[in-house]
Amino acid sequence: MKQTLIPFKENVDIPEAHFYAFMVCNSAAAWHHKQSFYRLKNEILQKHGHESAYDLQTIKKTCYSCDGKGIFKCDWKLPETCWSCLGDGVYQKKQVVLKRWVLNGAIFHEPIGELYINQLKVFNGYEDGYPVFKYEPFNGKIVSEINGLIKHEPLELNPTWSFYYLLWNYNRERFFNCIASDVNSYQTRTKHKLKNMLKQNNPLKVFADFFKIKKQQLKPIDDLPF
Ligand SMILES: [Zn+2]
Repeated sequence: MKQTLIPFKENVDIPEAHFYAFMVCNSAAAWHHKQSFYRLKNEILQKHGHESAYDLQTIKKTCYSCDGKGIFKCDWKLPETCWSCLGDGVYQKKQVVLKRWVLNGAIFHEPIGELYINQLKVFNGYEDGYPVFKYEPFNGKIVSEINGLIKHEPLELNPTWSFYYLLWNYNRERFFNCIASDVNSYQTRTKHKLKNMLKQNNPLKVFADFFKIKKQQLKPIDDLPF
């Protein structure tokens, strides 16, 4: 008897198609919905991912006054130690604790606060329009240190569409709010065109057409309702 092998991937927390869209959004460079995606990302990680210790990220901002050289030079006086960075060429250095999450076998990070010795500076909402922070003791296990920002290779698919697709699957209410506000941000003629299209078709299909997404780019998304 011939045995049929069913392809099965280990450690699948969310469907592969969802995971692909998640990766597209996560690796997209700065784009319109990045902050909203981070909110959804944390919700998905908290619901479907697995917690796994912490990483520590060190971010150094180069001093602009001296271009990171530590010496201030100008035409009308002798070079002197840069007064902005006091000579080390670093304008600001911060250490951010990143919570590690495992989702579908891959590691993702959620920044939870800046580290000062053993205290964690955590964002605690706004007061009179200004962000306020609170300090908490931190004694979590740090597994590795990351220097600088994490760069990702961008993937082929449109990140805005991928974000819509994730919202469609994980937060239908926010999906409709998000597309309504996006549609309203277009000029009158485009707005009307989109509204008409949305009356007749599945919204994910409407935006795939509108963003001129090629069939081939949608291949990894295998559960589309159209
Ligand atoms: Zn400097």
